[in-house]
Amino acid sequence: QKPVPSDIVISRSCVPKPIDHLAREVGLLCDEVELYGKTKAKVQLSIIKRLQAQPDGKYVVVTGITPTPLGEGKSTTTIGLVQALGAHMKLNVFACVRQPSQGPTFGIKGGAAGGGYSQVIPMEEFNLHLTGDIHAITAANNLVAAAIDARMFHESTQSDKALYNRLVPLNGGQRKFSPIQINRLKRLGIEKTDPSTLTEEEITRFARLDMEPSSVTWHRVLDTNDRFLRKITIGQSPTEKGHTREAQFDITVASEIMAVLALTSSLEDMRQRLAKMVVATSRSGQPITTEDLGVSGALAVLMKDAIKPNLMQTLEGTPVFVHAGPFANIAHGNSSILADKIALKLVGPEGFVVTEAGFGADIGMEKFFNIKCRYSGLRPHVVVLVATVRALKMHGGGPTNLELLEKGCSNMRKQIENAQHFGVPVVVAVNGFKADTEAELDLVCSVAKAAGAFDAVRCSHWAEGGAGAVALGQAVQKASEAPSNFKFLYNLELPIADKIRIIAQKIYGADDIELLPEAQHKVELYTKQGFSNLPMCMAKTHLSLSHEADKKGVPTGFILPIRDIRASVGAGFLFPLVGTMPTIPGLPTRPCFYDIDLDPETEQVNGLF
Ligand code: ADP
Repeated sequence: QKPVPSDIVISRSCVPKPIDHLAREVGLLCDEVELYGKTKAKVQLSIIKRLQAQPDGKYVVVTGITPTPLGEGKSTTTIGLVQALGAHMKLNVFACVRQPSQGPTFGIKGGAAGGGYSQVIPMEEFNLHLTGDIHAITAANNLVAAAIDARMFHESTQSDKALYNRLVPLNGGQRKFSPIQINRLKRLGIEKTDPSTLTEEEITRFARLDMEPSSVTWHRVLDTNDRFLRKITIGQSPTEKGHTREAQFDITVASEIMAVLALTSSLEDMRQRLAKMVVATSRSGQPITTEDLGVSGALAVLMKDAIKPNLMQTLEGTPVFVHAGPFANIAHGNSSILADKIALKLVGPEGFVVTEAGFGADIGMEKFFNIKCRYSGLRPHVVVLVATVRALKMHGGGPTNLELLEKGCSNMRKQIENAQHFGVPVVVAVNGFKADTEAELDLVCSVAKAAGAFDAVRCSHWAEGGAGAVALGQAVQKASEAPSNFKFLYNLELPIADKIRIIAQKIYGADDIELLPEAQHKVELYTKQGFSNLPMCMAKTHLSLSHEADKKGVPTGFILPIRDIRASVGAGFLFPLVGTMPTIPGLPTRPCFYDIDLDPETEQVNGLF
């Protein structure tokens, strides 16, 4: 076999078709498409209405076993599978994938366009700024952060009356509330629209948010692996008059605004979610929202283009939506509902949409079902579980022999079981590497089938493109016709701790959970504030089924520690932090950026994987 060149060499060797041609091919009308150069376009949401009556295609979610830090090829398999279904089996297809964060792109893991002969192209456009959605999220998120600290500062230096007069200024001799302020009044139970009729008490209640600084849960974000921002002190300039406080940065893809983008169903719905985000608690125990801060309309404006899915293509010319990119360990790990919904209409009833859920099935897939499918109302026909010999050997404890491989297959068995909890047929895709032997690949397939997988197939799409995943495509097609019996893992009405316990016991294999004091406090707070009916978005390491990254295979006999819980009320979930999970990664000694450079002659990007 010929050696496979580097990803960027393969990506560059293929001339993408002009994106407006692809848009026409998939049935988009001219005025539904906004071109961003020659290889990327945004799709307007008006298409949802136009295709309302069109039946949906088949919906496939790609997940994986517990991976090594390098990744086991979920993105590569997502792309290989659509290339097989589309370019080789001549079906209508769409891949829906996440936009990568520049943290890993410049840090340790590299890009996320797939790899080898199964990639989204051009991969440098895909991995870098794309159409600026992540930058829009950073801008929106940090506007909220600035609004919080500025508001606390102004409230600390002004009387109620002075605050009110500035918040509702005289304009031509009259004061007038903005629509956002009228919404705030309504939530305070003050049904008035004329500022001159407010009582002194109502003026105080309206003007003063009275946020408790230590209760601020909203963090600043940056799309860079900058570990020194994990804990910072803000407000140190004398101009802030001693209003310093400890704060932190998260990576942009962990922002609640990213989750809102991924889970929203329309512009109106996004506007409402962006208004409902809770940023702090007042001294009297009330949740303070982005709408209370008056910033929700500006957020919707900043996000109005980001809400439109981005159209790109694979190496074999099949269409891809790239939209939203939450990490799967510290966020919910799935691309946008809007992209999936539009793609399902575009492919029609005989077509396939393949979407990817980040990291292992215990993380991205569990959240795909319990959070994304709950909000979208969509029900997948097939789960594709990606396994590799190298990761299964790691779970077995060593690279040398078949016995260790068989031992490591326990992790795959457990992840198959995890998918089966949701009642959807599972096809295992054994992503073949050059070093794998026939005996190893056969063993993994037979263990998968014995564990109840609908089918298990070897694939070689990394080395061969779509042709290497035709067997997988056929298995997926067959599985999509098999009966499925979809169910959620837990009811939303259960108490918070019960929902966490169900995930911990059924999916991770924990004996029980332990709520540490901060988490216990949040359970009480969120229950009192009326947020206990939300689904759970567990923040847990992806490198083990347990909370300890070095426990491989199927760990047993452990108690899952819940250190804290955050609320993403606008996005629509609670966010339990399992053990210590950094919410902004760091850079290794030799990050990927060492290899990246620009050729000024050709303007080519070199060294991206
Ligand atoms: P995941 O989505 O599971 O994190 P990726 O699809 O991004 O994984 O793959 C991780 C890395 O492994 C990429 O650099 C990809 O090119 C490489 N890779 C994937 N499959 C293979 C394979 N079969 N052989 C060699 N390299 C592979």
